Amino acid sequence: MSGGLGSRADALARLRDPAGRWDVLVIGGGITGAGILREAARRGLRAALIEGNDFASGTSSRSSKMVHGGLRYMAQGAFTMTRKAVKERERLLREAPELVTRMPVAFTLRKGKFPGRRVFGALIGVYDRMAGINDHRFLSNRELSDRNPGVDTSQLAGAYFYTDALTDDARLVLCVLEAAVADGATAVNYARAIEPLRSDGRVTGVSVAADGETFEVAANVVVNATGAWADELRAGIAGERRMRPLRGSHLIVPHERLPVSDAVTFFHPDDGRPVYAYEWLGVTVIGTTDLDFEGDLSGEPAITEGEVEYLLAAAANQFGSAAIGRDDVISTMSGVRPVVDSGKDKDPSKETREEAIWVDEGLVTVTGGKLTTFRPIAMATLKAVEPLLGLEAPLPLDERPVFDTPPSRERADRAQPIDGTPYSWADLRAAVDSEQVEHLDDLLLRRTRIGNLLPGGGDAIATEALQLCRQRLGWGDERVAAERSRYERIVLDHYSLPQ
Ligand SMILES: Cc1cc2nc3c(=O)[nH]c(=O)nc-3n(C[C@H](O)[C@H](O)[C@H](O)COP(=O)(O)OP(=O)(O)OC[C@H]3O[C@@H](n4cnc5c(N)ncnc54)[C@H](O)[C@@H]3O)c2cc1C
Repeated sequence: MSGGLGSRADALARLRDPAGRWDVLVIGGGITGAGILREAARRGLRAALIEGNDFASGTSSRSSKMVHGGLRYMAQGAFTMTRKAVKERERLLREAPELVTRMPVAFTLRKGKFPGRRVFGALIGVYDRMAGINDHRFLSNRELSDRNPGVDTSQLAGAYFYTDALTDDARLVLCVLEAAVADGATAVNYARAIEPLRSDGRVTGVSVAADGETFEVAANVVVNATGAWADELRAGIAGERRMRPLRGSHLIVPHERLPVSDAVTFFHPDDGRPVYAYEWLGVTVIGTTDLDFEGDLSGEPAITEGEVEYLLAAAANQFGSAAIGRDDVISTMSGVRPVVDSGKDKDPSKETREEAIWVDEGLVTVTGGKLTTFRPIAMATLKAVEPLLGLEAPLPLDERPVFDTPPSRERADRAQPIDGTPYSWADLRAAVDSEQVEHLDDLLLRRTRIGNLLPGGGDAIATEALQLCRQRLGWGDERVAAERSRYERIVLDHYSLPQ
C-alpha cells in the first residue's frame, strides 16, 4: 500500500468549489479511469475523478485478475492487441513485482482434437516471442498431474506450460489511483455523474450527486470512463448506444479441494470454450462464463443457476475425482465486460475486446479494452484529450513507468494473517485510515478481498472489522447495524450461490 487516497471530505470540497475548473474530469473509478487520472496528473494537469459507487466496484474488482495477452484473442487473429497486452504484462511484472506476479499456465491438449501439440507449440512460441520471453514447454500427462493433483488426464495428450501473470484487480486500481493522488490528483468515491453540462454544442462539465446533494463541476474536458455503463452518459449526445455488456462469473473453492499449481486451462465439454482453474490469494478460482447480460445494469451482477451448473460441469469434466460440488463453494464473483457491440450478432466470446474512444461534443468516451492494457488505453485517451484542452504548449505524451515506486504491502504484523488470508489487521487499519472506506463492503470486498476468500463474506471477522470502523471512522451504533445488514445483503445477493 502506498500514500493513500487522501481525505474524501477534502477531495469533495475541492470538487464542489464553484471557483474551481478542472483541466480533466474523469468519470468512473475502475482501472480505465484510474489509469487516465494517473497519466493526466503526472503531466501537470488539474485532474479529478469521480466514482459513483466505490473505486473498482464495477468490473475492475470482478475480472479473472489475469494480466495476460489473451491467447484466445491471438487465436482469433487479434495479433496487435495480443502483442500490446503481453508487452504490458512484462512491464507490470517488472514495475510492480509485488502486485503483478508471474502465473504458470498449463493449457491442456485433448487427444485427437484441435489444437494438437504442434499447432499449439507454434502458437505459444509466437506468444512468448511477442513478449520477449521463452517460458513454454510441453508437459506430459504425468508432469501435468504431478503439478496439478486431481486433473483427469484420460482424455488428454499432455499440456503446454507457459506463463502469464496474475494480480489483485481492485488493489491495482487503488495503487494507480494512489499514484495519481500523490501527483496532485483528486479522487472521490460515491460521487455520481448525473448528466453532462453543455454550452454551445460543447460539454463543459457534469452535474454530480454526492452525499445527498447535487452540484455542478466544470471541466475543460470530461472523460467518460464508465466501462459497461458508457452509453448512459454518452447516448444523449451521440444519439447511439454501442455497448454489449457481457457477464462473466467465477466460483471460488478452497485450494485444498482443487490444489492446482498452474492455471489449468481446458475446454468446456458443452461448448468448447476455454475455462480455467487457478490459485489466487490462497483459494482456487474456476471461471469463467461469457453471456449477454440481460439484467438491470444499475444493480450489481450475480451468478445465475445456469452459470453455476456450467462451471461445476467444467470442473467435473476435468477434475472428476475431486468431485467439486456446491458445498465447496466459498463465494462467487460476477462481472460485466464492457464490450463494444460489432452489431453482427456474434458469439459473445468472439466480440472484440479492443478499446474504443469516441469524441462527441468534447465528451471523450473510452470503453472496452482489458485490465491488462490500462496504461496504453490511458495514453491513447490522453491523445484524444490533448487537442481539446486548449493548452499553449503541447502536452508531453512520453512513455513513463506505471509506478514511480513499486507498490509494496510489507507490514510488520504480516506473520499473523487473518484466518489464512494474506491480510492482517494492520492492512485493514491502513485501508480504513487512508483509503476512503465508506462502507464495510469497501473494506472487505475491495481494499482487501476477505469477503471473496472466507465463507459468508468473512462474517466471522465482520464484527471486529466494524469495531475498527467504529473506532477509527466514528461509526455509531445505528451506522454499524446498517453497515452489517447492507454487507450481509450484498454478500448474499451478489457473492454467493443463487438462493
Ligand atoms: C468476468 C470477467 C473477467 C475478466 N478477466 C480479465 C482478465 O483476466 N484480464 C484482463 O485484462 N481483463 C479482464 N476482464 C476485463 C476487465 O475486467 C475490464 O476490461 C476492466 O475492468 C474495465 O475497466 P473499466 O474501468 O473500463 O470499467 P469498470 O471497472 O466497470 O469501471 C467503470 C466505473 O464507472 C462507474 N460509473 C458508472 N456510471 C457512473 C456515473 N454516472 N458516475 C460515476 N461513476 C460511474 C462504475 O461504478 C464503475 O466503477 C474481465 C472482465 C470480466 C467481466
